[in-house]
Amino acid sequence: MTRTAPVVAHTRAELLQARKELSSRDVAVVMTMGALHDGHAQLVRRARAEHDHVIVTIFLNPLQFGPKEDLSRYPRTFDEDMRICTEAEVDVVFAPTPDVVYPDGDPGVRISAGPLGMVLEGQSRPGHFDGMLTVVAKLLHLSGARTAYFGQKDAQQLLLIRRMVKDLDFPVEVVAVPTVREPDGLAMSSRNTYLTQSDREVALCLSRALQVGADAAVFGPSAIRRAAREVLVEEPLALVDYLVLVHPTTLQDVPEWYRGEALLAVAARVGTTRLIDNTPVLVGPGGGRRDVFSPAVMSDSAPLA
Ligand code: AMP
Repeated sequence: MTRTAPVVAHTRAELLQARKELSSRDVAVVMTMGALHDGHAQLVRRARAEHDHVIVTIFLNPLQFGPKEDLSRYPRTFDEDMRICTEAEVDVVFAPTPDVVYPDGDPGVRISAGPLGMVLEGQSRPGHFDGMLTVVAKLLHLSGARTAYFGQKDAQQLLLIRRMVKDLDFPVEVVAVPTVREPDGLAMSSRNTYLTQSDREVALCLSRALQVGADAAVFGPSAIRRAAREVLVEEPLALVDYLVLVHPTTLQDVPEWYRGEALLAVAARVGTTRLIDNTPVLVGPGGGRRDVFSPAVMSDSAPLA
């Protein structure tokens, strides 16, 4: 079946016009940096199934890249992105350049991620989460969407967006979508294109460590951490930045007595590529791996103590 390609908006005026032409105000947004893969497509499919209209944003946000990060080499695959958006029946693709999003240059006023933005990814990528939240806030305003879909793949990003929406009273519902993986377990990521064939083999230790860790969930936190770490030490070519089992809303290490939902997360450099992966885990009796956190955890906004 031939599908109609989405309307493409590059400017604010074009986006406004495209929004006006939508037949209802039930609009969901999926924000991306392009180089779309099936993980992104899954977010769009969920949004498509649950709302009248879907806007996809494709924007490489300079504000969330550090000076030594991969902004200049980040894959740009606009034609293929459009094919995926057409296939997924996206209504509007908003693909602005930085001067459209930041017409006055770097914004002096930004959203601050606070203490939750300084641990884990925030420790390795100073300023990343302030830049991410600032653009997410802008794209929520510009898209006018009342529901936004984000991947569990970027667990800390998802948590911070939930906190921003809650703490700053954004009239927006945030929906978490489970991580989409390759058949061998590797979490899909636009950055996987950087991996050589041998890097890719090495990279499998991340998802394997999460699985083996989660399999030890009934035995408690130290068993989970130990099991996951044993997988990673077997792979010296993966330079581990962190492997943590933390509380899902405070991101603090869970103590040995803890039973309940926790986030098992890992970051490692493989070749020239920094990879992250995670899984929600239920720690304790009947425990094990979960796709996403329960609604109770997701609506909890306990601050970092
Ligand atoms: P990105 O283009 O990497 O900024 O990602 C855009 C959105 O897609 C974010 O909400 C990500 O969490 C989500 N995403 C990226 N990779 C995956 C994946 N493998 N599975 C599910 N969602 C993903």
